[in-house]
Amino acid sequence: MAELSQPSEIARETLRRLAMSKTPPTPDNYRTLYHEISGIPAAEPFPERSLKSLHAGLPHGNPEQKRFARQFEAAVSGASWEGISAALGDLLSKDSTKPLGWSALIRELMQQLDTHHAGLTAAKKKEAVDRVLAASSTPELLHTRLQSVVRSWSHAPAGSDTELTGEVAPLEHEAAKSTPPAPKEPVAWRGIGQIQNLIAQLLEETMVMLLVDNKELSSEAQQLAIATRAAKNPDEISALSDRLKKFTYRAHFVAEDQVELKAALLHLIQLIIENISELVVDDQWLVGQITVVRELVSQPLSLRQLDDVERRMKDVIYKQSALKKSLGDAQNQLKQMLATFVDRLADFSETTSGYHDKIEHCANRISEAKDISQLSEVLDEVMRETRVIQMNAQRSRDELTEMRTRVNHAEKEVSRLQEELANTSEMVRHDPLTGALNRKGMDEALETEVSRARRQNGTLCIALLDIDNFKKLNDTLGHAAGDAALVHLTKVVQETIRPEDTLARYGGEEFVVLLPDTSLDSSVTAMVRVQRELTRRFFLHNNDKVLITFSCGVAELGPDEDPNQALKRADDGMYLAKRGGKNRVVPT
Ligand code: GH3
Ligand code: MG
Ligand code: MG
Repeated sequence: MAELSQPSEIARETLRRLAMSKTPPTPDNYRTLYHEISGIPAAEPFPERSLKSLHAGLPHGNPEQKRFARQFEAAVSGASWEGISAALGDLLSKDSTKPLGWSALIRELMQQLDTHHAGLTAAKKKEAVDRVLAASSTPELLHTRLQSVVRSWSHAPAGSDTELTGEVAPLEHEAAKSTPPAPKEPVAWRGIGQIQNLIAQLLEETMVMLLVDNKELSSEAQQLAIATRAAKNPDEISALSDRLKKFTYRAHFVAEDQVELKAALLHLIQLIIENISELVVDDQWLVGQITVVRELVSQPLSLRQLDDVERRMKDVIYKQSALKKSLGDAQNQLKQMLATFVDRLADFSETTSGYHDKIEHCANRISEAKDISQLSEVLDEVMRETRVIQMNAQRSRDELTEMRTRVNHAEKEVSRLQEELANTSEMVRHDPLTGALNRKGMDEALETEVSRARRQNGTLCIALLDIDNFKKLNDTLGHAAGDAALVHLTKVVQETIRPEDTLARYGGEEFVVLLPDTSLDSSVTAMVRVQRELTRRFFLHNNDKVLITFSCGVAELGPDEDPNQALKRADDGMYLAKRGGKNRVVPT
């Protein structure tokens, strides 16, 4: 067969033979047959796509791997087998994953110390080695760190002014190679500095407060905070971590003690409350307060609950002592009266026994009387003595009557005092009708919540609500029904708001709700929820369902706003709600 020279002829012949031999005309079969017919050996094509996908799968975990991947990619893009071969050779000679033996490491170290690296002075290299030696407590650690330092030097880009310090943390080598760090303060060291600051802050602001009862530990926390901020090199950090470890260990015991102390205190409070509750069984109001306090301390304590307990206990103590004083006064008065009565009785019996003697004497004289004139003398005496005794008896009776009047009066005074205390005392913080905080209690709670919000940079919303058409309810159903409606509303509000919210009776049918850590929108939503709850839970009067609605204004306390100003804004909002048709919530 004539030698074919033209590529088109070779191509035609190739197709003919493929057809004759019934070989599938795949690119590979075509290429092989073509080269066979033409007599020119096939040049293997560069497998760029396969190599690129191989590149995509290469690991990029450490700088060495990244460097290899870059080299490999450049070689593939230039279709250069030589480039690929050089990259592989490089990789094998500098296998970073394989740890060097000690002798190889020392040899490498000496070699790298002698080599000039851009931005790395001999003094800096020495300093880095010193640091590694000081900070590595085991031979393994020393080996890993030294190797890491040596490799970081060997990778210093030639001609670059990048300043490598050979820091011990591997993280820093990374940073040093990918992005040049700011001179003098490597990235990792900056990160450590931030953590140091945070630890110091934790020690200073939290631990010192938590350990306030333990002078020694709290001053150690203070000193540790200073030392933490001052630590500038691995030596100091290592000394610091030893101190921190000891401190943590001791603080742990203090924390455990505090947990136990808290439990013991709670138990003690419960005991005291149990005792008080046995002492105040006669007074309905006190019993009510004590029950609430007992319920509060049976839950895990929060500062808000403690505030509430404190307010209620103050009320209980105040009322107890006031009652004790008035009852003591009454008792003294009764004692005095009894003493007077006994004196009088003694006088009286003395007088009567004298009278008996005298009458007996008279009787003797009568029996011995010789004539009427003698008898008349005796009779005169009897009459005189009888009149005296009669006058004495009269005086005693008058005195007894007066005493009885005074006792009655004292009794009335005691009950009046009790009633007055329960209803109008300025000292008590809870409203006796609804059990909600009264105006005084609210003022205190507002002060506490405002300072808490300011301290914690939190929000505080104040809602003021006024029952709609309450006068009409009073007029149609009676004052007692009005009172019961107030109690019902209080119960519904209290059961709908969160435990950390505070309800106070601000005036007749006006109430205030304090909503800490709540945005204005959420506070409006919370108050609308209360309204909805009131439409679900009717107030029942003689089995008739009575719908109670209220109008409400809500204000969020501004950062520097006077709380009374915020209260006033809430009041303005409430007024707008009334004008807008009642039964609505208006934010201001
Ligand atoms: P508005 O919708 O505009 O608020 O009308 P209102 O009738 O609710 O308001 P107004 O201020 O005219 O009347 C309030 C009434 O609330 C008058 C007062 O007798 C009554 N009230 C105040 N305190 C008490 C209380 O402790 N018990 C009872 N039963 N009524 C009270
Ligand atoms: Mg009103
Ligand atoms: Mg009203």
